[in-house]
Amino acid sequence: MRTKAVIYLDRFKNNLDSIRARVGKDRHICVSIKANAYGHGAVQIAKKSLEAGANCFGIAAVSEGEELRKADIKAPIILLSQPHPDEISKIISLNLIPVVSDAEFIAALNKQAAAARKKLHVHLKIDTGMARVGCNVSEALALARQINKCSALKMTGTATHLAVSDSADMRDIDYTKQQLTRFKKAVNAIKAAGINPGIVHAANSGAIILHPDAWLDMVRPGILLYGYKAVQEFELPLSHLNKLIKLKSLIVDPVMELKSVVTLIKKVKKGETVSYGRTWTAYQDTFIAILPVGYADGLPRLASNRWQVTINGAVYPIVGRICMDQCCVNIGSKPDVQRWAEATVFGANIVPEDPELPVIMQDAAALANTVRTIPYEITCNINRRVPRVYKG
Ligand SMILES: *Cc1c(COP(=O)(O)O)cnc(C)c1O
Repeated sequence: MRTKAVIYLDRFKNNLDSIRARVGKDRHICVSIKANAYGHGAVQIAKKSLEAGANCFGIAAVSEGEELRKADIKAPIILLSQPHPDEISKIISLNLIPVVSDAEFIAALNKQAAAARKKLHVHLKIDTGMARVGCNVSEALALARQINKCSALKMTGTATHLAVSDSADMRDIDYTKQQLTRFKKAVNAIKAAGINPGIVHAANSGAIILHPDAWLDMVRPGILLYGYKAVQEFELPLSHLNKLIKLKSLIVDPVMELKSVVTLIKKVKKGETVSYGRTWTAYQDTFIAILPVGYADGLPRLASNRWQVTINGAVYPIVGRICMDQCCVNIGSKPDVQRWAEATVFGANIVPEDPELPVIMQDAAALANTVRTIPYEITCNINRRVPRVYKG
């Protein structure tokens, strides 16, 4: 056993159940499974999602759809990014649902779907303030009319994406409300023209937590399913106390734990330095444990001298630069740590039995904070060479 990412599928199911309990059982759930399920393994997560009652999947690349279809996943798969025209034949043969933003691409899809004698489902994407994919609000009705006239296309959904739904800042709350107002107006105009907008959806994880009015027909959680609250509780101002209480009832647990192993223990004398760049000097005679995990595995180099691992429930700092394939941990002058012991690089936070003692923040969100990023980037960046080991 060397470095591995343990994926707790039972926690994933519990997280999905929590979201379902929050949004109500009649709403559809589209599992955001792009980027290899945020690093967790797309096929295994897809299977568990369907077992837990999810309705469909969101992907970013056609190849991700291909992987799921090859694994016999038959549920609807929505392609959330704008594909290249070269990929249209694959989209049709894999029966993916592209989101569409413009007349040119709608026409190209229709032409090829007609030639293949297929009826392709599409979702109209409306840009209400993210300025990424999606048509302008003023173009939405004309595009809906165009799709409606296409013999080989069927509009089965209408969507938008929220830019700051994960922020509890009052200005950001207002911005999200404005986005939703624009979206609902565009959807109503489509309905008023006698066109069925299909499944109407907008909510990512942030909106599942903070914006019930964004839940509509379907929610599209990603990070929340993998065990991280997109909204940080300590960021919530007092005026959101009610929401905070509701937020507390939404319990999710980190699905991934990155584990490594002590492969070597060595003695270092006071005054000696550890690793590249000599950024850490032993302040006393001590023992250093070597772990075969480095930045190539996805442990950010910026975490050098700023993060810790746990071994048998005790916390030990990473000292010196994190290397490509290895890192060094200070286990102290009289170590309890045995060679070949398992080390947790990140995983669940550790809550001590004594309530007076602080919680040890050991999850990917805390690691992300340490290196000024978001938990998404931490789990996505766990390299392919790290085996995923599934439990539950
Ligand atoms: C990735 C993505 C999501 C999921 O976002 P989370 O913040 O992980 O919940 C939802 N919708 C779209 C369009 C996305 O690209």
